[in-house]
Amino acid sequence: MRVLLVEDHESLAKGILTALRSESYTMDWLHDGQSALHAISSEHFDLVILDLGLPKMDGLTVLRALRDRRQQIPVLILTSRDGVRDRIAGLDAGADDYMIKPFDTDELKARLRALLRRSAGRAAPTIELRGVTLNPGNQQVSYLDKIVALSRKEYVLLHELLSQPDRVLTRDQLEQSLYGWSDEVDSNTLEVHIHYLRKKLYPELIRTLRGVGYMIESKA
Ligand code: CA
Repeated sequence: MRVLLVEDHESLAKGILTALRSESYTMDWLHDGQSALHAISSEHFDLVILDLGLPKMDGLTVLRALRDRRQQIPVLILTSRDGVRDRIAGLDAGADDYMIKPFDTDELKARLRALLRRSAGRAAPTIELRGVTLNPGNQQVSYLDKIVALSRKEYVLLHELLSQPDRVLTRDQLEQSLYGWSDEVDSNTLEVHIHYLRKKLYPELIRTLRGVGYMIESKA
């Protein structure tokens, strides 16, 4: 899952980035509203954390512009304690949730999981498909009730594929979920990570569509 953080307060932003990277999110960070609007329109993100008080273009304007363009991406806004009007305006403009600063990063993590679950149309906290269970809460994966140890990248790829069953995900989509702008692209190719996933789980789980991408079907 790739998350864009739009926050101009540097130390707060760094804290959020560290916390969310530890939960295997691929994170990108921008300081102003204008670049954020541009980035969201040109690249794929699964969720946006949007501060309201931002340079160049404030968060509310960004949010309204997104919704005007029918961009359905989940947005969580960050507001200050005394910003009741801002929160109401934000929710009315199409925000999906909000956090009041200062907040606990564990609560932020839980809210993101809930938002991503809702946007995927799931009620259960875990994803279960064809013998594989993935719990985004503790990032644990098991197969036939046995825990399987995955690397971060393997976990991210499996999460992408499992949360969108029966959909072909292209190489580009999968790579965007693995690497943020500041992440070093490792020498292991996508094929290598998929190879290990198949080996650690089972080969038939992930289907290759030659020249297109990969998918996990909901039924074998
Ligand atoms: Ca701010």
